[in-house]
Amino acid sequence: MPATSFAGSGRPPVGAGHARDSSAPDAVWRTRHAPDPVGRILSPCVAAAAARTRDTPAMSRPIPALLDMFDRLLAAPSVSCTDPALDQGNRAVIDLLAGWCAALGFRVEVQEIPGRPGKANLIAVLGEGPGGLVLAGHTDTVPFDADLWHVDPFRLTQREERLYGLGATDMKGFFPIALEAALSVRGMRLKEPLILVATADEESSMDGAKLLVAAGKPRARHAVIGEPTDLRPVRLHKGMMMEAVTVSGQSGHSSNPALGNNALDGMHRVITELLAFRAELALRHRNPLFEVEVPTLNLGCIHGGDNPNRICGQCELHFDLRPLPGMEPEELRVTIRERLARIAGETGLGIRMRPLFPGLSPFAEDAMAPVVRAAEEFTGHAAGQVGFATEGPFMQQLGMQTVVMGPGSIAQAHQPDEYMEQRQVEPAVRVLTSMIRRLCADA
Ligand SMILES: [Zn+2]
Repeated sequence: MPATSFAGSGRPPVGAGHARDSSAPDAVWRTRHAPDPVGRILSPCVAAAAARTRDTPAMSRPIPALLDMFDRLLAAPSVSCTDPALDQGNRAVIDLLAGWCAALGFRVEVQEIPGRPGKANLIAVLGEGPGGLVLAGHTDTVPFDADLWHVDPFRLTQREERLYGLGATDMKGFFPIALEAALSVRGMRLKEPLILVATADEESSMDGAKLLVAAGKPRARHAVIGEPTDLRPVRLHKGMMMEAVTVSGQSGHSSNPALGNNALDGMHRVITELLAFRAELALRHRNPLFEVEVPTLNLGCIHGGDNPNRICGQCELHFDLRPLPGMEPEELRVTIRERLARIAGETGLGIRMRPLFPGLSPFAEDAMAPVVRAAEEFTGHAAGQVGFATEGPFMQQLGMQTVVMGPGSIAQAHQPDEYMEQRQVEPAVRVLTSMIRRLCADA
């Protein structure tokens, strides 16, 4: 899921000020924290899994054990952030995945993001022909609060049946599970290809997913995005927009309104208009499949003026709008701008609206799509909705019917001591294996 919490303050939610200290936040963490006495960096489970890998002839298992891959992905820092001081590349994660995919017989393409050194997508294809199933995930994580973690964020720690690490649930942990599923169908004749897609910058700019759409690949019939949904299929989420409205007037002595043009007075009218628009949206758009059935518009923060005896010359408001499927962010922007232009005309104030980030489209997949039906059948859960946005709309733009479904819970994402419940790992491998058999082998 994309980071959203930079909305309020205009800054990311970071304690990862620590990451500022060095280009290698894993090293920083280790210098600040004594080794953990209980959940040692290489947990007994990982050690056992690694030992199993060593004991197994390379012929029979071309990739490391699942938890060993999990550990190595966590150990490759890949924070993405709208703040350049915290932003890192994801190339190390891509290279690990590319190597394992190649070992499984996939044809591997690393797609570098133009103008973003160290950032890349991976497209790995097993089998031939049109159609096929994409297993997709993002390789980046959000920043982290180093002082609030009790385990090393950059290694796998297994404790109390949980797998801890930065990105364990959102969503590096999806990849070893997807690779394990790919391994389990090795040797099976695939009538349609199996494609693994790993993207850059989902948590910040969505540049990875945008590049896939611009390049027009991969093309496939179905896609599973492995964001953490507790392994329940999801076919709906709202979109996300964050906008700033600036009102510019003229400051002057408060004793005579004619000496200026008050931006706060103008903002009062802007807010009245936005709240009226919100009420209209709620009347016109409703979808009972969502927990909050109507589109939301939240006034997040406001800054303006300085002194009571000065006419306020400048005021800025930030708001967040979550459209339902069927509502397009760009159309909403056009409508709001038209309504604000009317206020500007009547007041003589300068009123400007700008997006704080490009915005994400809402997502809705056909309830009868084969990928949705297969996910429902193999998990035993009806497809539902979630409160976060994903790369789903981009996969749909590439022509794929898409379901969001992955192990781990969003409740543990984007916070210290992020973990995935270990009991979700085996079922996730089983479900993905069944999806591959159904949509690639039996196709
Ligand atoms: Zn995510």
